[in-house]
Amino acid sequence: MTMLVVGSVAQDTIHNHLGTHPYIIGGAAVFTSLSASTYGPVQLVGIVGRDFPPEAISMLEARNVDLEGLEITDGKTFHWEGRYSDDLSSRETIRTDLNVFADFRPKIPERYRDTDYLMLANIDPDLQLDVLNQVREPKMVVADTMNFWIESKLDSLKALLERIDVLTINEEEARQLAEEHNVVTAARALTGMGPKTVIIKRGEYGALLFQGDAIFSAPALPLTDVRDPTGAGDTFAGGFLGYLASEGFGDDFETLKRAVIHGSALASFCVQGIGIERVKSLSREDITGRVNAFRRLVSFS
Ligand code: AMP
Repeated sequence: MTMLVVGSVAQDTIHNHLGTHPYIIGGAAVFTSLSASTYGPVQLVGIVGRDFPPEAISMLEARNVDLEGLEITDGKTFHWEGRYSDDLSSRETIRTDLNVFADFRPKIPERYRDTDYLMLANIDPDLQLDVLNQVREPKMVVADTMNFWIESKLDSLKALLERIDVLTINEEEARQLAEEHNVVTAARALTGMGPKTVIIKRGEYGALLFQGDAIFSAPALPLTDVRDPTGAGDTFAGGFLGYLASEGFGDDFETLKRAVIHGSALASFCVQGIGIERVKSLSREDITGRVNAFRRLVSFS
């Protein structure tokens, strides 16, 4: 089963309780690809400038991420800078330098077009639609979005929703997009807009999975060593997608539940490192151990 991830490839500057971490490798497509690649090969489509470090390219390739779809062009790589509150519960964006990302028009290489699993990470919904028009018959399309697109490109976003299978979205943004305060009502309204399955990400409170009338709640693993939440949502999506790809196919609720636990397990590793530090070195054994920790956390008789 092939997985294709389209989204931002970035250099991030992060300020948090541990200090300032300038120009470290990040971007939604990087977190998602590294996470999904723990389960199998991943194809990445994105754009970087010539300043993107060659070691990062080698690292991604060594992790089973195919970079034929990574455009390297004149100019600087997308740069995002954010500052976290001391308890890591909130963050503010200090600057977003789009750089080469401003002119990004995803070009899906011919040999990627028959992909089975497609992750449309958080980018302009017009570009997400453009990618959908370039692939042939994916078994599953997962998409993410954010408040910026809800406010600026609502019509395109609604057109996208009609064509995807799974929406992953933060709780606040789910409320905003659905125009419903109650999270359950919001999720049901979102499934009414197109995707059969909706996953609401709730940060340190875990994730909720909705399909029809069925609901599944996955906790986040309580951890003592949270170092950086950047990319946790994207890493979640990679674990979710990777698990489904490794299983063959599954949009039955039991398989989706297990995929949500895998996503949560990957995200729990992500927050334990700065940027991609932890996600880039995970093994299947690490994941099995973490999934078992989730099982112990929620089991009762
Ligand atoms: P998350 O913590 O899941 O929101 O993801 C953080 C990642 O998203 C960082 O590595 C950033 O480089 C990337 N990012 C931040 N802003 C944007 C944006 N406007 N478009 C695409 N990616 C972004």
